[in-house]
Amino acid sequence: MSTESVVIEQDIEMNWTTAPRPYEFTDNKFLQYQESYESNARTYPRRLQLAIARAEGIYVEDTDGKVFLDCLCGAGALALGHNHPAVIEAMRKTLDARVPLLTLDIMTPVKERFMRDVLAALPAAFADHAHIQFCSPSGADGVEAAIKLVKTATGKRGIIAFQGSYHGMTHGALAVTSLVKPKADIPNLMADVSFMPFPYHYRCPFGLGGARGEQAILHYIEHTLTDSCGGLPPIAGVIVEVIQGEGGVIPASDHWMRQLRRITAQLDIPLIIDEVQTGIGRTGYMFAFEQSGIIPDVVIISKSIGGTLPLSMIVYNESLDKWGSGSHVGTFRGNQLAMAAGSVVLNVIEEEGLTKNAGLLGEYMLSRLRALQQRYPQLADVRGRGLMVAVEVVNREATPDQRGSYPVNPGMALKIQQECFRRGLIVELGGRGDSTVRFLPPININMVMATTIIDIFEDAISFLNTEK
Ligand code: PMP
Repeated sequence: MSTESVVIEQDIEMNWTTAPRPYEFTDNKFLQYQESYESNARTYPRRLQLAIARAEGIYVEDTDGKVFLDCLCGAGALALGHNHPAVIEAMRKTLDARVPLLTLDIMTPVKERFMRDVLAALPAAFADHAHIQFCSPSGADGVEAAIKLVKTATGKRGIIAFQGSYHGMTHGALAVTSLVKPKADIPNLMADVSFMPFPYHYRCPFGLGGARGEQAILHYIEHTLTDSCGGLPPIAGVIVEVIQGEGGVIPASDHWMRQLRRITAQLDIPLIIDEVQTGIGRTGYMFAFEQSGIIPDVVIISKSIGGTLPLSMIVYNESLDKWGSGSHVGTFRGNQLAMAAGSVVLNVIEEEGLTKNAGLLGEYMLSRLRALQQRYPQLADVRGRGLMVAVEVVNREATPDQRGSYPVNPGMALKIQQECFRRGLIVELGGRGDSTVRFLPPININMVMATTIIDIFEDAISFLNTEK
C-alpha cells in the first residue's frame, strides 16, 4: 500500500502536524459514548468514525491527533472553512459590543448591515425588487417558508419538485424531496407535490441523455403543466436546485434553466431556486442561478450564509409579499452573531475573488478526475461546477442499460470513502444508492490543497484496484 507517499501540505502558520500515516480505527471513548446515547437516526458518524477536537480552514484534527482534509465541511456549509480568522474576529467584536444576541425579527444595526450585504450580493435586477424573510435557522425551514409564501401569494396548492431533489427533512421539505426511503415510514406528508424528471445525463429518465434528453424533459414539463388532462392540481410554485447536491452533484445546463424560467414565467408560476448548498460562491458564482442569467421569484439561502452559525432566509420578489403578519414566525430568526459572521463571509468572498478561485480549482479537480476516469472504469461520470465536484461509481461487471450506463456501485463507493478516510481525506457520498463520491472543500483552498485532495483520492482508488 502506498499511503506513505501521501503527505498533507499545510500552510506554515496553521501549525498543524502532518499526518501521512494510514489511519487505524482505535477504541475511542467519544465514539463509544456517541454509539450508546445518540439517536439511531444519526448519519455521518456511521461512516466517518472520528471525534473532532479542533479545526481550522480545511483541516480537522481528531481526538487521537490524526489530521484530515475536510471535503464534507458541514455538508457544504463552510465556504471559508473552519474558524476563518475574519469570521471569528467578527463574532468576537459582536460579543464585545454587547449587542443583543437574539432579537426575534426586531431590527438592529447588525441586521441592517447584513440585509444590505445579502441584497448587494444578488443581481440588482432581482435585489432591487426583493423582500427578505428570516427563517428558523435551517435550510429546511427556508423551504417551508418558500412553499407557504407561494401558496399564499397564488392561492394555489400544487408544488412541482424534481426527481433527485433534496430540500430537507421537515414534513413540507421532505414532501418536496425525492428520496423514497426517508418518506417510507411517514404518512400524511404535504399533499399535491408532483415530481418532474431532471436532466441527469448519465441516467436520463427518458433514456436519451444529452441535449435530446434535456429537450424531452422540457417538453414533458411544459406539456404536463398545460395539458387539461395533465393530472396536476393548480400549481403554486416550482422548486429546483440548479445543481442537485445531495442528489449526486447533477448540474442543470444554462439552457435548461432558461427554458424552465420561460415556461414558469409564461404560466405565471413562481420559480423557487434552492441555493442552500450551491449558494455563496461555491459554484463559481455567488449564486448558481446567476450563470444562466435568469431571475428567479424566490431564492432560499442558508448553510454558508451564517459563517458557520445557523441562519436561513428567503429572498423573494416583492409582488409575492401577500402574506400577513405572523405567517411565518420562529424564535431563532434573529441570531446576531450569525448575521455579523455572514456579512464577513460575503465580504471576504468578494474581496478575495473566491468565486473565481472556486471556478478555477473546480476545473482543475474535474480535469484530474476525468484523467482518473480513463484509468479506472468504475469512475463512470465526473460532474460538478466550481468546488462542488463529484464522481459517480458504477459496477462495470454488471450489464449496462440501453444507453451504456452501468448500475450504481454502493459497495465500491463506500470502500473509496473509507480508503480516503484512512489516508486523511473526508469525502461525502450522495446520489442514487449513495454511489457518488462528493467533494465540498472550502472555496478558499489553494492549488496545493486541491492537488492533495485528488492525490489522496487517486491513491485510494489505485489501492482498491490493485487489492484484488
Ligand atoms: N436544500 C438543499 C439544497 C440542501 O442541500 C439542504 C441540506 N443539505 C437543505 C435544503 C436542508 O438544509 P438543512 O439541513 O439546514 O435543513
